[in-house]
Amino acid sequence: MGKGDRKTRKGKRFIGTRKKKTKRNCYEINAIIFNKTFDYTQEIEYAVKNSIVSNSDIFDFRDTPQKKHYESIYNFCRENLDIHFNRKNILKSTFLYSNDYNVNAKACKYNNHCVILFNMGLMQECINKYLNNHALNEFVQSKEPDLIAKFDNSMSYLAFQINIQFTYYHELAHLFQLSRVETDKELQEQSIDNNFNIINHKLEINADTYASISIATQIHQYINTYLIENINQEVVTTTIAIFGACLFEYILNFTSHLELYFKEYNHPHPLIRVLNIILNITNHFSVNKIYKEQGVNLNNSVLFFKIMDFHNELTNNEVFTTAIPNFRQQYTNNNKSIVSYIKEIKNWEDGITYINAMDIWNKNVDIID
Ligand SMILES: [Zn+2]
Repeated sequence: MGKGDRKTRKGKRFIGTRKKKTKRNCYEINAIIFNKTFDYTQEIEYAVKNSIVSNSDIFDFRDTPQKKHYESIYNFCRENLDIHFNRKNILKSTFLYSNDYNVNAKACKYNNHCVILFNMGLMQECINKYLNNHALNEFVQSKEPDLIAKFDNSMSYLAFQINIQFTYYHELAHLFQLSRVETDKELQEQSIDNNFNIINHKLEINADTYASISIATQIHQYINTYLIENINQEVVTTTIAIFGACLFEYILNFTSHLELYFKEYNHPHPLIRVLNIILNITNHFSVNKIYKEQGVNLNNSVLFFKIMDFHNELTNNEVFTTAIPNFRQQYTNNNKSIVSYIKEIKNWEDGITYINAMDIWNKNVDIID
């Protein structure tokens, strides 16, 4: 991990919240009430007028049965984009759903306008695979009934939220990266051009790092909100393992190349991505002084295996479907090479003015509250 990646803000609100004028967001965590710059109608008008997205490519969710899920994610993203625009971290940016069935999302800069696009295919996949995954609720309920009883929402709902929000933070990090790039640029999660490019790998790992820290902070707040009376080693590690396994399944979905590779393809191999994500999440928790005072000592490696093992149990029970053969073995055999590759791409000098998303995180860490 780079120096900046470890600098997280422990035990405080997640990025984009403040103390006053608060309401509950979808994690039931305080979030500021913002006067949004756009509603979805204005969002569409703005994007079409500025030739950012053509009208026929935009998905209007407002007359669909899944309206409330699309709307809650839209509101969350819109408010967060406004926060970062007000902090001058990004240009004026739009958030839209695109009329595309592929499981994909992208961050783009066109004519000095920025946009995050979530395909309706991505949303539908997350609704089907997580939100409507009743087997996930039943399995986790049977394994951890005391813990689940303390959660404010079903596990399937929380899994849906965490995975979609991970994607949002990942795309937001791409907007930070692109903020000083003068030419039009598009970064997408499933690319037609699947050639290796180390800069792309660097940008993806950097976006994952930002998203991991954002999600770790959310999980942290969730534990502090709903499990504060019961914090101990078991509660904290099990909660991280459950959320981590859902994120693990989600990341695995973005590839069809299951055998480990390094300098190939447009995105790093999911094992590399997952290791970076999980290490960032576990680092965030393991340095928490308050937990340490309460006798909670979190070890990166133990947590990583706990997440992998829990994911394995979920796939063995057909709750999740993405099983990578010998995944644990691949990790054990290649751990050093993976860590070394992550280090190599993090230290890679691209020679282009991409902003490091973690610099934005660290800047915000100092100014929030
Ligand atoms: Zn990406």
